[in-house]
Amino acid sequence: MKRLYGVLLFLWTALLCCGCGAEEIQRRQFTDAVMGTVLQQSIYAADMETAEALAEDVVLLLEDLERQEISWRQEGSELFEVNMSAGTTGGFLLSEEMTELLIKCRELWESSEGALDVTLLPVVRLWDIDTWAAAGETAGFAPPDEEELERALALCGGEKLRLEPQSFREDGKVLQARVFMPRGLQLDLGAVGKGAALDKIRVLLEQSGVESTVISLGGSILTYGEKPDGSLWKVGVVDPRDTSSQIALLSLEGQWCVSTSGDYERYVEAGGVRYHHIIDPSAGRPADGGVRSVTVLSKDGFLSDALSTACFILGVEKGMELAGQYGAETLFVTSDGSVILSEGMKKYIIS
Ligand code: ADP
Ligand code: MG
Repeated sequence: MKRLYGVLLFLWTALLCCGCGAEEIQRRQFTDAVMGTVLQQSIYAADMETAEALAEDVVLLLEDLERQEISWRQEGSELFEVNMSAGTTGGFLLSEEMTELLIKCRELWESSEGALDVTLLPVVRLWDIDTWAAAGETAGFAPPDEEELERALALCGGEKLRLEPQSFREDGKVLQARVFMPRGLQLDLGAVGKGAALDKIRVLLEQSGVESTVISLGGSILTYGEKPDGSLWKVGVVDPRDTSSQIALLSLEGQWCVSTSGDYERYVEAGGVRYHHIIDPSAGRPADGGVRSVTVLSKDGFLSDALSTACFILGVEKGMELAGQYGAETLFVTSDGSVILSEGMKKYIIS
């Protein structure tokens, strides 16, 4: 009898120890305000400390990226210095990272026939939709004066952005370039910043040891790894006219980036007109490509973000063709509320 008790006690203790040794992998959620938007992280980890440390690293990465590199507002950031160099003869020597980013932006400017144009800052500032939308107050808003708009638009243009290679990688790609900006040219990376950020987060996740995570940064989402229970990631596409509900649901396996650009994200309504924050470079005013939103699915964060903005301006036909060139899939919500999918997108839609 004593022996039986002994065995039972041993089994009970072993069971308890087992329980504490292998903590279950759980979803741990974190919400922060970063880069002028909401960052949501779902990190699947066995313990809270690991998840918290990773969540904090992601926030720090984004804050640094914003403050030190891509914000045109932040005095001392690299982009701020680039913009300050406009009109100088010596130009500005870009970091390797900014070189790569601006080269990719210029490539997208070319392939989108000018739809994605990071030189639009003078026009973007004139409309100032972000500030009006953030304030949530439309009284006092008026579209810019036509002449002022003409003058601002004349300062912009992707063709004015000159990047001169200074050194090359072994594979022949440009490592570092010097940018030369004519007076008045001003860059804004708002259309690609969040996607570029997702690419950096992915590298951080790869080094972290955490196996499954979903990050949502404003309208851009990164899925990473496999869900511990083996089910697929579900990513909702917001209904542009009822942002509390979803117009579609994507089911994704492993690592993906999903970006949405829409007329419902940042806008001002005045005199019955919706003025949103995506500018058609050919007109200098909010784009009207016949769509309310575009969602782009790609393995690459930069591409998903850059293409969603470009596709919004280009509309369904040209947009879908452009995304196709980059192997990206698209979901358009058109002005009449219908949903149009690229052929390859269909297999990811579950409702
Ligand atoms: P969000 O940042 O809300 O996800 P987008 O990625 O579509 O939306 O980027 C829109 C932002 O990009 C605007 O707030 C503005 O700063 C900038 N922008 C507006 N129009 C263009 C354009 N045609 N090309 C490049 N950048 C643009
Ligand atoms: Mg974008």
